[in-house]
Amino acid sequence: MKQQAWLSKDLPNGKILCEACSQACTLQEDEYGKCGVRKVEDGELKLLVYGIAAAVNVDPVEKKPMFHFLPRSTAFSVGTVGCNFSCKFCQNFEISQYPKEHDHDIIGQELPPERIVALAKQSGCKSIAYTYNEPVVFFEYTYDTAKLAHENGLKNIYVTSGYETKKSLDLLAPYVDGMNIDIKSFSNTFYKEICGARLKPVLECVQYAHEKGIWVEITTLLIEGKNDSDEEIREIAKFIASVDTSIPWHLSAFHPMYKMLDIHRTSLATLRRAYKIGLQEGLKYVYVGNIDDEDYESTYCPQCKKQVIERSGNIGQFVTNTLDENGTCPYCGYILEGVWH
Ligand code: SF4
Repeated sequence: MKQQAWLSKDLPNGKILCEACSQACTLQEDEYGKCGVRKVEDGELKLLVYGIAAAVNVDPVEKKPMFHFLPRSTAFSVGTVGCNFSCKFCQNFEISQYPKEHDHDIIGQELPPERIVALAKQSGCKSIAYTYNEPVVFFEYTYDTAKLAHENGLKNIYVTSGYETKKSLDLLAPYVDGMNIDIKSFSNTFYKEICGARLKPVLECVQYAHEKGIWVEITTLLIEGKNDSDEEIREIAKFIASVDTSIPWHLSAFHPMYKMLDIHRTSLATLRRAYKIGLQEGLKYVYVGNIDDEDYESTYCPQCKKQVIERSGNIGQFVTNTLDENGTCPYCGYILEGVWH
């Protein structure tokens, strides 16, 4: 299904600017954007994957990862093909890079917004997550679905690399309740050489999404020898703390994948080192992920330090939440930050 992409602008030179993400592609007739799923046809920018889902699952919300967002609930998770990044370590490269690696072919099942919302409700999910590939590249599809989801009492989560423009965030903010944004590194060279992107727009997106009142959690995939120096970890932690010390930070273990098969899995020691730095920089909530370590996956009250949400087993398998629907600590009354109902 193709649909006109709203986030676009005609330029005086006859080209069309896509305003969905910070790649800011300027395209002429028959040209595709860097994501491979937006293309100029008949003088209009078209979204080629509207209503075509390439991955659909019911997942624990903890798997997104969102730890301060309706704990123990499930999120109806959808993604399409295509991505505006080209990360050499992509965990979902089969779908994210598919159009670029298959002569712009689009694959997936027809799944219009109404059907997503109906299936989410039938499955008992409390939210819809736009995930697996970068959701802003299929912005119009996510927007229509998110709006309908709200009308049906469901929340919405964007799992993103943080390349949304201010314009796309302004439109999304009334409907997107939570975002998990990757800060993949604090080095522009890393972003450029490994991801085909830049650092600055990502930091601006984190700041702006937070300002717009969207609940933000951050994920950093730590790759030993690439982005795990004490200095770099500290810079990321300082940045997050400068936005808000209550933003949860997920430190995730790298597994060899896609074009980075020559680098080993991240050790627990590295993740724990980063975890300590996060706390030293004043972050209230730091988590370790993609590795079994229940002490570092649970939530502790920042005031009395008691464990208030226990997480163990596979992600989302065993979650014991002692907070009430306002996020109140049962031991000291501190209100933990998050979306709890
Ligand atoms: S969404 Fe796609 S076409 Fe639009 S700016 Fe980003 S990469 Fe380019």
